[in-house]
Amino acid sequence: MLASVGGERLKNWAGNLEYSTERVYTSASLEQVKAYVKKENRLKVLGTRHCFNNIADSKDGFLSLKAMDKVISIDPAKRTVTVGAGITYGQLCPYLDGKGFALHNLASLPHISVAGACSTATHGSGEKNGNLATAVSGLEMVTASSDIVNLSRERDGDKFAGSVVGLGALGVITTVTLDIQPTYTIRQYVYENLPLSELKDHFDAIESSGYSVSLFTDWQKQRVNEVWIKSRVEEGQAFHPTPEFFGAKLATRNLHPISTLSADNCTEQMGVPGPWYERLPHFRMGFTPSAGKELQSEYFVPRQHAVEAILAVEHLRDQVSPSLLITEIRTIAADNLWMSPCYEQDSVTIHFTWKPDWPAVSKLLPVIEKELAPFHACPHWGKLFTTSPAELRSLHKRMPDFVELSRKFDPQGKFRNQYLNQNIFGS
Ligand SMILES: Cc1cc2nc3c(=O)[nH]c(=O)nc-3n(C[C@H](O)[C@H](O)[C@H](O)COP(=O)(O)OP(=O)(O)OC[C@H]3O[C@@H](n4cnc5c(N)ncnc54)[C@H](O)[C@@H]3O)c2cc1C
Repeated sequence: MLASVGGERLKNWAGNLEYSTERVYTSASLEQVKAYVKKENRLKVLGTRHCFNNIADSKDGFLSLKAMDKVISIDPAKRTVTVGAGITYGQLCPYLDGKGFALHNLASLPHISVAGACSTATHGSGEKNGNLATAVSGLEMVTASSDIVNLSRERDGDKFAGSVVGLGALGVITTVTLDIQPTYTIRQYVYENLPLSELKDHFDAIESSGYSVSLFTDWQKQRVNEVWIKSRVEEGQAFHPTPEFFGAKLATRNLHPISTLSADNCTEQMGVPGPWYERLPHFRMGFTPSAGKELQSEYFVPRQHAVEAILAVEHLRDQVSPSLLITEIRTIAADNLWMSPCYEQDSVTIHFTWKPDWPAVSKLLPVIEKELAPFHACPHWGKLFTTSPAELRSLHKRMPDFVELSRKFDPQGKFRNQYLNQNIFGS
């Protein structure tokens, strides 16, 4: 069942990467996955193609699990849901909410696949919220030998912690079990023009003002352009909006993070209460998220270096601004997942949505990476970076263990590609 993709070259979502093959095999069942893995010498699973680099690329063939997108079971007592690995958050969330449940957090967009997002440690914001992979409590995976491996957080300790952020290197994830909690309501408030001096002096207070807080800046005029505060309405947690917030003014209309763009594709703001899955992402399902024509990079910095790291990037404003659409700053709680950039460390992320101009962006990334190096800045696995493999190794303490684990599941490198060979396996 080989599906060619309508004559057009197969590209990632942003269109900046043409994949190296158009051979896409679509599996509709575990048996088909097993048979395909057995037959092929090399393959990559393709999720929803939202990575900006070649992490998902293959010269040989792709396996798509798009058809395996069903909710398999929900366990209200254990508070877990088990889903087919092809499901997107956009498909899963309304279903969960309908059953009275919710996830702990979401990324800026719901369009991405659960398995692909967790494989790259995709995250939202909130200093007490781990990345999306921290919700994973179980995985079913087809390994290179086409055997089925079931891993659980409860039972498999280190092997599990090493497999969840698996970068597509360990096998084909066929089902994912996620922690769920009772559904909740969120109000989203946006403030405009927060002086950088206030951010410097009150970073912790600003970040702890909501369940999830995002700061958007173009690095101009010594200010954060927009502060997005997502507040759970439960007793004791709610944010009480005042017209001013650390010198910023409460917005009186819905805004896009890039203020010159229409807010039509953004989730509802102005404190209108709504279900968690229609407020935690910035962008709405059914619309193009973000700017559409863009590149992205993002660096994780240990939380204690947040302000220094932000000020270091601010020094680069004149270099960065011509290529930048917007920067977003978020917080993420520490976790125990080996290849997560937040492994054992509360983190702050500094994200760049770039104009789609790779020649210019590729010159800026080393400059930013050099400026952030004293703060041990670690790049997002799924976005654009120029950090060297040696630096990646020093940033990810558990990489040697991850390499060993990968070799157990995939001794011949069936699931490896150029990205993994270069950045992880050192060849
Ligand atoms: C507009 C936009 C906004 C974004 N916002 C955020 C954000 O808020 N926060 C954030 O952290 N990131 C964000 N990202 C990045 C995005 O979340 C990640 O790139 C994520 O990995 C995308 O998932 P995907 O399914 O599209 O992955 P793909 O690019 O398709 O694949 C990613 C990796 O996962 C592997 N993989 C996928 N499915 C499986 C499977 N079933 N078994 C084994 N391996 C698998 C692939 O082989 C590959 O290695 C954004 C991206 C875009 C385009």
